[in-house]
Amino acid sequence: MAASKTIGIIGGGQLGQMMAISAIYAGHKVISLDPAADCPASKVSQVIQAPYDDVDALRRLAEQADVLTYEFENVDADALDAVAQLAPIPQGTRLLRLSQNRILEKRFLSQELGLPVAPYREIESAADLEDYDFSVTRVLKTATGGYDGHGQVVIRDQEDLEAARNLVEQSRCVLEDFVTFEKEVSVLISGNGESYTVFPVQENQHRNNILSKTLVPARINEELSRRAKEIAYKIATELSLFGTLCIELFVAGDQLLVNEIAPRPHNSGHYSIEACNFSQFDTHIKGILGQPLPEIVLHGPAVMLNVLGQDLEAAEAFVAADPQAHLHLYGKEEAKVNRKMGHITVLAEDADL
Ligand code: AMP
Repeated sequence: MAASKTIGIIGGGQLGQMMAISAIYAGHKVISLDPAADCPASKVSQVIQAPYDDVDALRRLAEQADVLTYEFENVDADALDAVAQLAPIPQGTRLLRLSQNRILEKRFLSQELGLPVAPYREIESAADLEDYDFSVTRVLKTATGGYDGHGQVVIRDQEDLEAARNLVEQSRCVLEDFVTFEKEVSVLISGNGESYTVFPVQENQHRNNILSKTLVPARINEELSRRAKEIAYKIATELSLFGTLCIELFVAGDQLLVNEIAPRPHNSGHYSIEACNFSQFDTHIKGILGQPLPEIVLHGPAVMLNVLGQDLEAAEAFVAADPQAHLHLYGKEEAKVNRKMGHITVLAEDADL
């Protein structure tokens, strides 16, 4: 096998862009598929401009690629299955289908793997919300299509319950107990189908349901950190994972509850570009190519700050005042409110954290 491959990435957002940069450093060529010709990955790769479920376009991508990968979970799994004979998709579509549907995801995590999740029940229709008991705060989430808090209602009173009923009209849902957590953390793990390498546990702070800040290592005790990594290994082993997977967890007292999994590199892992010996994108590319994976070393504590549309000026002022900070911008033209435009990573040795 030639060392240099052509990698087809479905999705040309910032995750695809950073995957492509890692792939290029390792000598590979990248073609991305994205509906927008000027997507972030267009700065570093050829782009096939088409919707993600366009089977003809996926076929064209597969015909030119040695291997296919995806950078986000809302890829049409049936469309991917339709082109799987043309180029391997090591991540597979099982993981994709699981992470696209909270019902399947919860069943997989809690029933198949016996992992701790917040107590939940599946909601088929508004009838399942009859005689609702308000003694516990719960959160209703649509089974499909939700992200960054969209498609969710926290139910505390009658008015929230009305909103919840409206949500159930649109989609099947899961109803979860609201967890009063101390922290949200995540763990990244990469696999090559046989062996796995895990990153340090990350502590995540959100603002308006969007990741705002990640601190590494997470400020949790060693036992919790060990258990979080054990959970990551268990999920990766069950899936014979290829590429990078992120597991998001709640820390509540001495409990760790799995919230969700993302079958790809994750916003909370961007710090790894500067703070680790290999980034989550490097190990993603190695993993999908079935290459041996390195043990991950964190050079030192780090903080990652997301730069949203409204933060651009502040971010530029931040790096002007602290030139040791690493500012990444994804090359998006329009700076909309809450749109992820870039991120900043600060290494602890460079700053007073
Ligand atoms: P999700 O889309 O499931 O990642 O949820 C978005 C955010 O909502 C999470 O990062 C949490 O901050 C919050 N959240 C989700 N589920 C729960 C829960 N069961 N209890 C408390 N907060 C939650």
